[in-house]
Amino acid sequence: MKYNFWFVVGSQFLYGPEVLEIVEGRAREMAEELSRYLPYPLVYKVTAKTNQEITEIVKEANYDDSCAGIITWCHTFSPSKMWINGLVNLQKPYCHFATQYNLEIPNDEIDMDFMNLNQAAHGDREHGFIAARLRTPRKIIAGYWKDAAVHERLGRWMKSAVGAAVSKTMKVMRFGDNMREVAVTEGDKVYAQAKLGWQVNTWATGDLVAEMNAVTEAEIDALMEEYTSKYDIATDNVDAIRYQAREEIAMKKMMDREGCMAFANTFQDLYGMEQLPGLASQHLMSQGYGYGGEGDWKVSAMTAIMKAMGEGGNGASAFMEDYTYHLVAGSEYSLGAHMLEVCPSLAAPSARPRIETHHLGIGMNEKDPARLVFEGKEGNAIVVSLIDMGGRLRLICQDIICVKPIMEMPNLPVARVMWKALPNLTEGVECWITAGGAHHTVLSYDVTAEQMKDWARMMDIEFVHIGKDTTVAELEKELFYNDLAWKLK
Ligand code: MN
Repeated sequence: MKYNFWFVVGSQFLYGPEVLEIVEGRAREMAEELSRYLPYPLVYKVTAKTNQEITEIVKEANYDDSCAGIITWCHTFSPSKMWINGLVNLQKPYCHFATQYNLEIPNDEIDMDFMNLNQAAHGDREHGFIAARLRTPRKIIAGYWKDAAVHERLGRWMKSAVGAAVSKTMKVMRFGDNMREVAVTEGDKVYAQAKLGWQVNTWATGDLVAEMNAVTEAEIDALMEEYTSKYDIATDNVDAIRYQAREEIAMKKMMDREGCMAFANTFQDLYGMEQLPGLASQHLMSQGYGYGGEGDWKVSAMTAIMKAMGEGGNGASAFMEDYTYHLVAGSEYSLGAHMLEVCPSLAAPSARPRIETHHLGIGMNEKDPARLVFEGKEGNAIVVSLIDMGGRLRLICQDIICVKPIMEMPNLPVARVMWKALPNLTEGVECWITAGGAHHTVLSYDVTAEQMKDWARMMDIEFVHIGKDTTVAELEKELFYNDLAWKLK
């Protein structure tokens, strides 16, 4: 889907046709100019002067699948009772862009005509009130429209809105059920579909095995060539790699046939398969598919959504799991990995992933599964967990700083990422556990905490952020108040 955003400018008839012509001309100019700097086109739609015009444009925006959101601005005053009928029916993400055409107040030129034409400071307040009064979910971005920092913020919000659009059409393919007895990977799929749009359904492992048996040697040869071009082969067990290729081709065919962008499986249900998909899942993730281990469909869908939100970034959003701590005072780190399935988009530029085969002591693997092994890259990132609180969803986001792993770990047969959690390891862990965050997360170098907050608001779910200033005491209070607020909602 090629997404775009609509620019809807508020005005009124009071100033006469000449002023309205100027407003429209400038709004067109701004949309065209801004589109050069934003990740998605901003399309000028209307200078709205009546209740009917606003109601109509909102109906059109709701109906148009390619419209990922609307951006409003009031060049002049625009009485906001005209906006009520539109805003109460708005189903698309909404950003109020509080800007102004002119950068400066022109000392010599300014008179009452100039004031009437250029009164965004006035008009945007009237416009802002009605959204506050109606409790309309929105993002407010203020600043000069030619400012690079403003482009950056508008662009990030657009990507959150695209995440919302992708969420509404998300389909997750589950191969079998969740890992037995695990609580945090469970969840109310009916509620998730009503709230987030996710269609989460199951396919039998036997269906996958049948699909795998139909894969041809020629198809496997072609994918083997791709593996060889991207990765170093560090095993003699070519059959194990070819088996992963077979699994990948079969899973991709099934997902593409059903329009699924995410999948989940579990090592406890591989009936008829020789290997847990490792390399297969990793290579699928690198193509934008979401994945969750142990049947974790929530983290799988979130991975696919955050990959879509990060489009144009470095492509690094991936399924992750907190594994082990390094608790040495002054050098405290978390080590993240998974039993196989870490997306190679996380790999440091210097660390070309290696395909290795090793015994996997867990689950029902008859043969040693092939997997990609590499070191994760450095940089600021976030980890995100979506949990089901019973009757509602909570999105938890923590700021982390990824580092080059401080040791080689030559016997660790999986890809690994090492990071410092904020505010620090122990307080960060206390906050995460207090909030109920899962061991599975989406780790992203592309998407920011602010973008996840915006996304959560668009989806109307709770958002909890753990950052450099978070304390357990404050977080406990926030969670308590949130619980009350969401019960009242
Ligand atoms: Mn896991």
